[in-house]
Amino acid sequence: MSSTAGKVIKCKAAVAWEAGKPLVIEEVEVAPPQKMEVRLKILFTSLCHTDVYFWEAKAQDSVFPRILGHEAAGIVESVGEGVTELVPGDHVLPVFTGECGDCAHCKSEESNMCTLLRINVERGVMINDGKSRFSINGKPIYHFVGTSTFSEYTVAHVGCVAKINPLAPLDKVCVLSCGISTGLGATLNVAKPKKGSSVAIFGLGAVGLAAAEGARLAGASRIIGVDLNSGRFEEAKKFGVTEFVNPKDHDEPVQNVIAKMTDGGVDRSVECTGNIGAMISAFECVHDGWGVAVLVGVPHKDAVFKTHPMNVLNERTLKGTFFGNYKPRSDLPAVVEMYMNKELEVGKFITHEVPFAEINKAFELMLKGEGLRCIIRME
Ligand code: NAD
Ligand code: ZN
Repeated sequence: MSSTAGKVIKCKAAVAWEAGKPLVIEEVEVAPPQKMEVRLKILFTSLCHTDVYFWEAKAQDSVFPRILGHEAAGIVESVGEGVTELVPGDHVLPVFTGECGDCAHCKSEESNMCTLLRINVERGVMINDGKSRFSINGKPIYHFVGTSTFSEYTVAHVGCVAKINPLAPLDKVCVLSCGISTGLGATLNVAKPKKGSSVAIFGLGAVGLAAAEGARLAGASRIIGVDLNSGRFEEAKKFGVTEFVNPKDHDEPVQNVIAKMTDGGVDRSVECTGNIGAMISAFECVHDGWGVAVLVGVPHKDAVFKTHPMNVLNERTLKGTFFGNYKPRSDLPAVVEMYMNKELEVGKFITHEVPFAEINKAFELMLKGEGLRCIIRME
């Protein structure tokens, strides 16, 4: 047993005190894990656009003060009562959505929307006692999606923690704990393009490029990348994207442009922008009769999806997914193995790295649309 087990740990965490204000590195107290919880030492974390939305709190409701962060890799420090599947020292990836193993969703082959542990962006506390495990001078600092990885130590429900191969380099597989698995799974598990088919990817950030990588692995022959930032196009070639469309270069809706390029529409589309207009275009650009569109981006809190019902009657399918339909505990270790077996490249998604003290730089890069993933080194 570690010397810190059962005790409060004092460590550094990046606290979001207010919406849109730079995070402040503070000394926080992290309480021991309770029933079915584990305390993790985070070694690497990275920034996903979802963190930025809930930090900006412009298009989302958020709670403050909060410790954000959900894409990370670490080591189990100690475990709470009832935890049998993890022990101190295990190498793990925390995930923003969980797998209790007992509910109807966990028992279904089709769903990863666990009743107990599915993503909940409003909750800032742990399920067991409705309280936060983080505090500063006794004042609670709230959690984010059950992970709060912008801290040297964090507490998560055991169902939100995937045990992985201890040989996997944590500074690389860290990005598999959200963005890359989400995009990859959205294509491989949900859109399921056939060999030789055409796929449109809306949004060429890390999530979209992982979706493109999935299309390439599935044998798609045309992968059309759509982004408002043409600066993304050169980088996207490394991910198998074959053609590019910037909606700003056209006078007609991008769905019409894509329909003309593909003789009626693409076979599959995957939306990774969070923009409602792009979501509608992604649906309307798939071919009638068989086209399938998959929504991945996190929408504005007031967004409404509007399309003529005839677009659906004409035998198009609209789907959505969290975490690429992967069940975190059952399926994520195998995604890590894909990387270990060199079936999946991860390094090309990592374009920047900063020490923890400079975490705000990662936010600046994402806001400017520069690079893909920025790894934040905790030590
Ligand atoms: P990112 O900011 O790195 O990439 C988004 C890209 O979309 C950018 O290149 C941007 O220029 C482009 N874009 C924005 N609006 C557009 C529009 N109208 N048309 C075309 N392109 C547009 O973000 P990311 O980290 O790759 O995340 C992408 C989205 O996926 C975000 O909305 C994020 O919240 C969401 N996400 C969802 C899940 C899930 O499980 N469903 C998981 C992770 C991330
Ligand atoms: Zn994410």
